This record gives sequence, C-alpha cells and structure tokens, in this order.
Amino acid sequence: MTRVAFLGLGHMGLPMARNLAAAGHEVAGFDVMPAAMAAAAEAGLPTRESATACVTDAEVVITMFPSGAHVIAAFAGAEGDGGLLDEAPSGALFLECSTISVAEAREAHELAANAGQRCLDAPVSGGVVGAENGTLAFMVGGADADVETARPLLEVMGARVVHCGGPGLGQAAKVCNNMILGISQIAVAEAFVLGERLGLTHDALFDVAAHASGQCWALTTNCPVPGPVPTSPANNEYRPGFSGALMAKDLGLALHAIEDTGVEAALGRHAQEIYAAYAAGAGATRDFSGIIESIRVASVATD
Ligand code: NAD
Repeated sequence: MTRVAFLGLGHMGLPMARNLAAAGHEVAGFDVMPAAMAAAAEAGLPTRESATACVTDAEVVITMFPSGAHVIAAFAGAEGDGGLLDEAPSGALFLECSTISVAEAREAHELAANAGQRCLDAPVSGGVVGAENGTLAFMVGGADADVETARPLLEVMGARVVHCGGPGLGQAAKVCNNMILGISQIAVAEAFVLGERLGLTHDALFDVAAHASGQCWALTTNCPVPGPVPTSPANNEYRPGFSGALMAKDLGLALHAIEDTGVEAALGRHAQEIYAAYAAGAGATRDFSGIIESIRVASVATD
C-alpha cells in the first residue's frame, strides 16, 4: 500500500486514481475545478480540500494536468508561496504523467532535484478507455530506482511500462511516437480520398493496404472511413477517440522538439500545421481521423 496524492482529476486522472484506490492504495485526490471534485466524490474517490492537504503525507505525488505550464507552476509555486515540491515530505516521488514538452519535463526534474525530491516523467498513451481499464502504456524517463518505486502503481494504471532512459526521455518517446501517428493518419486519409477519386472502393483499398506495406495503426485500428474497421471513430461520426485538439497539442510539442534539436522534419512540421487548422474548427471535438473530411473539402474538382 502506498500513500498517493493524485492531483488533476480530469478525463484521465479520475479513472487512473480510482484504479489505484481500488487496488488498495491510500489515495488523496484534488482538482482545482469544482466540477472535477464533484465527479470524484460521485465516483467514491477520497479527496482533500487542497493540493497541500493531499501532498503533506504523500509517498508518491501523481500529477495529470493539461499542460507543462500547469506542471511547472504547481511544482514551483508562486513567488513567496511554496509549491508542491516544498510541501511534500522530503524524498517523495513525483510521478508526472501529463503530456508536456521535453524541455518542460527536464525543468520539472531539475526543480524536483533542487528541492530534494525524486521525479519521473511518465506520459501515457491509451486515452480515456485505457485509463478506465487500467491498460495505459507508460513511457518513463528518470532514474532506475525511481522507476522501481513507481512500478507497482504504474502496473495498476497501465498494461505496459517502458523505461525510456533519463529525465525527459519518456516525453521524448511520446512526442516521437505521436509525430509518427499524426503523419501516418494524414497519409492514410489522403490515400482513401485519392482512391475514391480513382474509383476504388474503401473495402478494396483496405483489403490491399491492410495486408501490404501500407499497413499501420492509423489504417487497421483507426481507419478514417466507415466500414472496414467497425470500431473505428469513422463509424461513429468521428466521436473521439483521440481528438484533433489533442493531436494538435502533441504535434505542437513535437514542433518544439524539432526546433530545439534542429532536425529536418518536413512532414512533422506540415502535420503540425494541418492539425492546428483542423483543431481550430471541427477537430476541436472530433477524432483526429476526421482529418479525411478536411482533405475531401480541400481537394479540387477536376471535372
Ligand atoms: P483534463 O483537462 O480533463 O484534466 C486535467 C485536470 O487537471 C483538470 O480537471 C484541471 O482542472 C486539473 N488541474 C489543472 N491544474 C491543476 C492543479 N494545479 N491542481 C489540481 N488540478 C489541476 O485533461 P485530460 O484529458 O485528463 O488530460 C490530462 C493530460 O493527459 C494532458 O496532458 C493530456 O495531453 C494527456 N493525455 C490525454 C489523453 C486523452 O485521451 N484525454 C490521452 C493521453 C494523454
């Protein structure tokens, strides 16, 4: 049994915290939004009145926030006001699960080390369904000993734990994987629209590509047209799934990393532009595979 402070009880955090509590860990949850606190109470998750009250006796502090700015502000605190790092017992492990930039993750590690605390960056993939079912994949950056401390908790919340290396390398793996995903989802969508224009049925193209060198997750799990994969969001009016807004966020983090490292990533840059435009419209709430609709709309008539 571990005493866990769980901060950020949103779409992902609440089901993750519930799984830890159900597995017998002593969880104290908190969220700055009253609606999230009400949902936690309804779900039977033990909560406390502030973040400070949660971390004061915690062995592990888990954060699941919207962005890196939220993480840094909560870790460091405002001027003259101690942050979580000061308020937790010395030597507590901060398990930072939000999706943030590699640079922000490294800053969080440094702040933690300077405050005498331990830290892991441990972003996830698997979405809300994975959070609910305890089947998330964790990509972890930090010291071996800290990963071993966190492992029993990670194995409750997830089905797969990959220790990717030192500080920030969990976020690095996440950003690289999601750059592949964003690019490949656009590629699959473009191929289906091209097939439509050439007279190919969706089933014929799927039957070929799913068993040929075009095979990928964006095709065989998240197929952007209804029919070939009955569980893909295309069969459900593109309800997410993984929204265009979240893909745009992750590709924005990829762009930061591309610029910081000077890598010539032409497709990564272009995918970021495409998803930023999608997220500013229909993609704010629709699955990222709905990008196929933007491609159809933007395609010129030739007859
Ligand atoms: P969300 O907005 O539903 O939840 C985040 C919660 O953090 C909010 O309820 C917010 O009020 C709370 N919060 C912010 N600052 C806080 C603070 N200082 N103290 C306490 N609570 C605070 O977001 P989400 O969908 O749960 O995603 C969380 C993170 O997980 C994001 O970084 C996201 O990119 C990542 N992620 C999300 C998904 C997904 O499918 N939703 C998948 C993978 C990764």
